[in-house]
Amino acid sequence: MDLPNIETYLRPNQIQAIANWGEGWAWLAGGTWLFSEPQPHLKVLVDMQKLGWSEIEVKADHLIIGATCPLIKLLEYPWLEEWTAVAGFKSAIATLAASFKVINMATVGGNICLALSVGTLAPLMVALDASYEIWNLKGESRIVAAKDFQIGFKATILQPGEILRRILIPLSHLKWKINYQHFSLATTDSALVIVVLAKNDQQVRCVIGASVAAPRLLECENIETAQRQLITSLENENFIVDAKASADYRREITALLIKRSLQ
Ligand SMILES: Cc1cc2nc3c(=O)[nH]c(=O)nc-3n(C[C@H](O)[C@H](O)[C@H](O)COP(=O)(O)OP(=O)(O)OC[C@H]3O[C@@H](n4cnc5c(N)ncnc54)[C@H](O)[C@@H]3O)c2cc1C
Repeated sequence: MDLPNIETYLRPNQIQAIANWGEGWAWLAGGTWLFSEPQPHLKVLVDMQKLGWSEIEVKADHLIIGATCPLIKLLEYPWLEEWTAVAGFKSAIATLAASFKVINMATVGGNICLALSVGTLAPLMVALDASYEIWNLKGESRIVAAKDFQIGFKATILQPGEILRRILIPLSHLKWKINYQHFSLATTDSALVIVVLAKNDQQVRCVIGASVAAPRLLECENIETAQRQLITSLENENFIVDAKASADYRREITALLIKRSLQ
C-alpha cells in the first residue's frame, strides 16, 4: 500500500552517508511488512538495497548471512550435506504463512528485526547459538548473541539508527541435529506455537517461540531427563493470552511439541 505520510526516501550506498537519525525514520529492507499496513509514525525511509551487502558467505569458521539476504536464498543455496542444521531454514520458511512473492522479497534481517512473536527465523537462530553483528551510523560494530536480541513483541535491543548487519553461525553448529515444530490453528494462520530443538554432543537447546512474546532458550545437559526438565521449566514461562488461545493451551501445545521433537 501507499504510505502517503513518507516525506523523504533515501537510498545510500554506504551507511556513513546518513549523518543523523531522527524520529520517524526506518530502515527499509524487503518492504513486505512496511508496505503491508499504514505506518503513520514514519516520515523517512532509508532503503538498504544499495548497501551492496553479500548474501551468504562461508568464511573461516562461520556461515555469514547478510541482513539483506532474501529468504528465498536460504532455500536455494547449495548447502553441504553434512550441515544437517540447515534443514531448519527450510522448516522455518515453510512455517511462514507467506506467499511466494513475500519469500522472494522479505529479508533475513527484516524478519529478525521486525521481531514479531510469531517470527519464524529468530527461534532457529537462538537454537543454533548464532550471533548478530550490529552497526551504528558511523559503521562501528558490536556483536550480540541471538538470544539477547529480541526483548519482546516488536522490541529489540537496537538503538535508533542501529542496523542489523549480518548473522554469524559457527560452522560446527551447522552439524547439530535440528528439529523445527510448529502448530497453527489453520494452515493459513501464523504459528500459535513454535518449538526448535537443537541437539549436539553436550546438550539439548530448546527454543520456544510464537507462544511467548520473544524466543526463549531452555537448555539442559542431560539428554535422558531432557523431556521432564524442559516441560517442568514451562511452568515459569509467561505464555501469551489472546483471543486465539489461553496461556494454558499454549503451554500444553508447547509441551506436546517438545515431546514430539525429542522423539
Ligand atoms: C500479514 C502478515 C503476516 C505475517 N506473518 C508472519 C509470520 O507468521 N511469521 C513471520 O516470521 N513473519 C510474518 N510476517 C512478517 C514477514 O515475514 C515480514 O514481512 C518480513 O519478514 C519482513 O521482512 P522485510 O525484509 O520485508 O522487512 P521490512 O518490511 O522492510 O522491514 C520490517 C521491519 O524491520 C526493520 N528492519 C528491516 N531490516 C533491518 C535491519 N537489517 N536492521 C534494522 N532494522 C531492520 C524495518 O525498519 C521495519 O521496521 C508477516 C507479515 C505480514 C504482512
